Amino acid sequence: MKVLSWNGPKQIDVEERPMPECKKDEVLIRVDVVGICGSEIEGFLGHNSLRVPPLIMGHEFSGYIEEMGDEVQNVLIGSKVVVNPLISCGSCPKCRRGLENLCDNRQIIGVHRPGAFAEYVVVPASSVIEVPKSLDSYTASLSEPLACCLRAVRRALAQHPFSNVLIYGAGAIGVLSGFVADILGARKVVIADINNDRLNTLNNVGFNHTLNPNEESFEEKLSEMAGPEGIDVVIDAAGFLPTRTQAASIVNTGGVIMNIGLGIDETPLPVNVFIRSEITVLGSFCYTKQDFHDAVNLLVDSKIDIKGWTQERELNEGQQAFLDLIGNRVENSKIFLS
Ligand SMILES: [Zn+2]
Ligand SMILES: [Zn+2]
Repeated sequence: MKVLSWNGPKQIDVEERPMPECKKDEVLIRVDVVGICGSEIEGFLGHNSLRVPPLIMGHEFSGYIEEMGDEVQNVLIGSKVVVNPLISCGSCPKCRRGLENLCDNRQIIGVHRPGAFAEYVVVPASSVIEVPKSLDSYTASLSEPLACCLRAVRRALAQHPFSNVLIYGAGAIGVLSGFVADILGARKVVIADINNDRLNTLNNVGFNHTLNPNEESFEEKLSEMAGPEGIDVVIDAAGFLPTRTQAASIVNTGGVIMNIGLGIDETPLPVNVFIRSEITVLGSFCYTKQDFHDAVNLLVDSKIDIKGWTQERELNEGQQAFLDLIGNRVENSKIFLS
């Protein structure tokens, strides 16, 4: 079978590999569509210590069951499926509390074991969720990033359900967070990014409030959009010094800053402001099984429209897709390979 093998910094090669075999509790999936995740761009550059070359990445995917082990009962050959790539142990203290995303022994498909930048991939049957054949494979492949956003945004909005929300980052996580905030009842969703092409793309898909933080009039325009209610919730899907610093200065007293962008490790922050203004600073990582199921249901119910902000390329063109992403030459927020 054909795979994309990440062989070292900035080097992905198309290679031929033997078909993987499934153990008794695993299934073989014929991959239909796989998305490229922001974390994989870091991986491609060699900035992620968990990803060790040679590695087949790819953890946002959909496909069809081609083969299954003797003990598998939850799916049939030919079923259309998406895969929760986070494998948890089920028995550590975090798993016991329902926080599989924080499992002490967690493994991720495409990080700790071969992923879906390939024609076929083997995964545990317990990681598979069947979806209707009427759900198109591109939309289905958003289950994983949408699950991340769902967890983050619903926690951020828990105390401020109908407030104005500012999102930093017009990548897929920012855009999907925007959709989720809308679905959960946010009043206005403002998306900020320094890439004007991406902001224009978002205007075309119905996000009418977009801003470039590098423009001098940013704060003025933001307060015009937000009105007297201001910004109760900031979702930082970028995670760099300017966004973290600005988030702390513009969020309302009593507001929430939700961090999901892993841009840089450390940032000096005005903790005394958080104390005196009762600002809640949160982080969110991956998703629980429930978050993942809820994300799949939103997609099945057509609550997320992929038109206008995503693009499709051939699996063979993986190397070029990554080079374009690191060169900031992609106006869309998400690239799918198929
Ligand atoms: Zn991802
Ligand atoms: Zn565990």
